[in-house]
Amino acid sequence: MNNRYDFIVIGGGILGMSTAWQLQKAWPGRRVLVLEKESGPARHQTGHNSGVIHAGVYYKPGSLKARFCKEGNVATTAFCDEHDIRYDRCGKLLVATSDIEYQRMMNLVSRCEQNQLEIEVLSQQQLAAREPNIVGVGAIFVPSTGIVSFTEITARMAELVAAAGGEIRYGTEMVAVDETAQGIEVRTDRGVLHGDYLVSCAGLMSDRVVRMLGQEPGFRIIPFRGEYFLLPPRHNRIVNHLIYPIPDPELPFLGVHLTRMIDGTVTVGPNAVLAFKREGYGKFDFSLADSVEMLRYPGLRRVVMKNLRASLNELKNSLSKRGYLKLVQKYCPQLTVADLQPYPAGIRAQAVAPDGSLVDDFLFVTTGRALVVCNAPSPAATSAIPIGAHIVERVKQLVT
Ligand SMILES: Cc1cc2nc3c(=O)[nH]c(=O)nc-3n(C[C@H](O)[C@H](O)[C@H](O)COP(=O)(O)OP(=O)(O)OC[C@H]3O[C@@H](n4cnc5c(N)ncnc54)[C@H](O)[C@@H]3O)c2cc1C
Repeated sequence: MNNRYDFIVIGGGILGMSTAWQLQKAWPGRRVLVLEKESGPARHQTGHNSGVIHAGVYYKPGSLKARFCKEGNVATTAFCDEHDIRYDRCGKLLVATSDIEYQRMMNLVSRCEQNQLEIEVLSQQQLAAREPNIVGVGAIFVPSTGIVSFTEITARMAELVAAAGGEIRYGTEMVAVDETAQGIEVRTDRGVLHGDYLVSCAGLMSDRVVRMLGQEPGFRIIPFRGEYFLLPPRHNRIVNHLIYPIPDPELPFLGVHLTRMIDGTVTVGPNAVLAFKREGYGKFDFSLADSVEMLRYPGLRRVVMKNLRASLNELKNSLSKRGYLKLVQKYCPQLTVADLQPYPAGIRAQAVAPDGSLVDDFLFVTTGRALVVCNAPSPAATSAIPIGAHIVERVKQLVT
């Protein structure tokens, strides 16, 4: 086998596959290789998420998240149309359940205006008419939000990479990399490969790739578990849209939602609790190496201290189904503890700065011949096509 490639992409999640597919389109005939350590695509964040095609409500106007999410919403549904992948533009309701939440909701209305999103503000009566099982004092209706299987999209992208002459090696882990003026040498657990350029979309491992490239990342990936429950089949039609609470503006990523999934089921979640193993999906999974590395990082202590109350609440509700239930009963009072059935968790890769702040926007780091995706939390699955296009543009700058 010829082990020399033009582009080597690390990671067979949605960002790696989107990038490889678009690199192959930008440079037809060049050799593109995707390396994925698992035995198939989408085995980590991409295959453990809510499956929501976001519209872009929350993101700071002008940020990459705001831009790529909006473009990605359109690009994802166009991709699904072209490749016959099922999706449902079912829309989402952000439901206010108190006066303070109503005020926060109105602030979100102005953010939607700044982000030029089409929305509708619903009164209590209009909310009740649309969602008889949901209670609230008002809501924002976001019609462009949808649902899909990002695993299916990633698998289709992998087929497109292969069809265009690209190569995908599953079960192959990059363990070290050397960058020189002449090229990139990638050492894997199955031998050495050579490339002209490297793109890393390694999700939960992204800071480790920066270190492999000989640089000190100015952040660490902190893994946050997102735990879900599945509602029993009799509740598959309990809601007509996706139902989201109004987030606390200080902690916008917290708040469990009721999500209609593309397979017809309904999930509740996810919460956000610190994980002690980067890729450990069991509730009590623990890695000594991951934990020691995390605990030695001052940014972790600071992020926990800054959000102590919220962290303890999330932990309490993770350990107590009743606590978790209360979060959703706020807007869907008829659910009971017996309705919360087990469902696989996901683990978010969140970059945290040394001062304990969460890196908010998508973050990319480049060296002479490599580009590393360093922070790509939600809505990165929605944004995968524009992120891939952005990476190709940045790689063009490395090539010239
Ligand atoms: C609980 C949860 C809910 C979410 N909900 C949504 C949502 O509804 N909508 C949305 O848009 N986004 C959502 N997201 C975010 C979205 O899932 C991620 O942003 C997106 O999947 C990131 O894709 P990725 O390709 O960067 O990472 P991943 O899917 O994690 O892929 C990275 C891949 O790199 C591989 N890898 C790592 N290191 C190496 C190595 N050294 N060698 C070889 N391979 C390696 C890993 O095995 C992995 O397969 C959610 C995330 C979570 C966790």
